[in-house]
Amino acid sequence: MPKFDLPYANPIAADKKILYKNARIIDPKSGYDKLGELLTIGDKIVDFGEKLSAEGAEIVDCKGHVLSPGLIDIQVHFRDPGQTHKEDMASGSKSAVVGGVTTVVCQPNTVPTLDSVLTFEYLRLKAREVSHCNIRAYGCITKGMKGEELTDMNALKNAGAVGFTDDGLPVMNANAMRRAFEYSKNLGVVIAQHAEDLNLTNKGCINEGEVSRELGVRGIPNISESVIVERDLAILEAIGGRYHLLHVSTREALDAMRRAKAKGLPATVEVCPHHFLLNDTQVLKSGTNAKMNPPLRSETDRLALIEGLRDGTIDAISTDHAPHDLASKDKPIEEATFGIVGVESMLPLSLKLYHDKVLSLKDLLAKMTCNAAKIINFDGGVIAKGARADLTLIDLDAEWTIDSQKFFSKSKNSPFDGFKVKGRAVRTVIAGKTVYEI
Ligand SMILES: [Zn+2]
Repeated sequence: MPKFDLPYANPIAADKKILYKNARIIDPKSGYDKLGELLTIGDKIVDFGEKLSAEGAEIVDCKGHVLSPGLIDIQVHFRDPGQTHKEDMASGSKSAVVGGVTTVVCQPNTVPTLDSVLTFEYLRLKAREVSHCNIRAYGCITKGMKGEELTDMNALKNAGAVGFTDDGLPVMNANAMRRAFEYSKNLGVVIAQHAEDLNLTNKGCINEGEVSRELGVRGIPNISESVIVERDLAILEAIGGRYHLLHVSTREALDAMRRAKAKGLPATVEVCPHHFLLNDTQVLKSGTNAKMNPPLRSETDRLALIEGLRDGTIDAISTDHAPHDLASKDKPIEEATFGIVGVESMLPLSLKLYHDKVLSLKDLLAKMTCNAAKIINFDGGVIAKGARADLTLIDLDAEWTIDSQKFFSKSKNSPFDGFKVKGRAVRTVIAGKTVYEI
């Protein structure tokens, strides 16, 4: 059985020395990639290089595996507070560290929503007590995510919000977005959008295309995503601030982001493994476990996302980890809830991009470390002297099959059940402490 620990409820001694030997140390930010050693004292990285002297240090033999900055998943739903029968901070964070993820960013569509200082205080205290990983969170753009009245963004930022979104729902009101960008500019934080025009979605449940027609169900057209992205980028250009597009799924929205970046607009975009690995025909195989929002799109869209990853338009990989109990999924496709779990399988699924030679290992890891950190102004995602020792040890070559019943998440809703993958996290370190070992 794997070993788990809690980095903050049971912190490492401040003078504890650990020497990680025989590691392929990769820091995507600086481009460092060498076989060598890394020394931590307490919760900090104090040195790394080809050969270090470290008297009295505990030795960890990394067996030539990759030692990366701890992975960051900038989009998860841990359902805490409010729907803890689907997930809670303890189970969600356990799932994260098994996946090599050291930091997650929770989305604010909890019950109640993360729109008050009090809810951020709850997260902070609960995380310190039960979480296996670093917990960060977005605050809501609008009160109760109702899309109209803005939250007190200044107070929420001070309480720990890394940015603002109404994810789960789009902000349909363009004037609310305009005002949010004004705050974004003043506070230096990102406005993250779940881009979906609800009128165009028109109660669709999967991608609008051959599969929706075959099944005789309402589809969600590509323009449902892209018209909101185009609108948001127009507001961004006029007002300023910073924009982040959550879970891009269509070639049109990606093209809009590419054009915005070419203009020099401060806009970033993330993609989820399911959108670059699967297309909408997966619905025919996995049923409601392939239903999420935005939906799996056409093969043309999938290939466009791969190209976006390759050419650097897509900054980050996230999972939109969305746990649901069986009762929410065991329904006709029109009625089942949207979402799939993902934090535990982000690394092995994304490593396909490296094994298939779409991306170098350094460029792939950047999308789950330093690039992700930059979007949320997070002081992690790097291997550097003095940095907090958040590390992921990765066996690149382990071949295994995903079994969703074995997920540490409380929920098992994944279309990747039975998928053969290559590579996995074998040790996860947070604030100097090994919190997971296979
Ligand atoms: Zn979303």
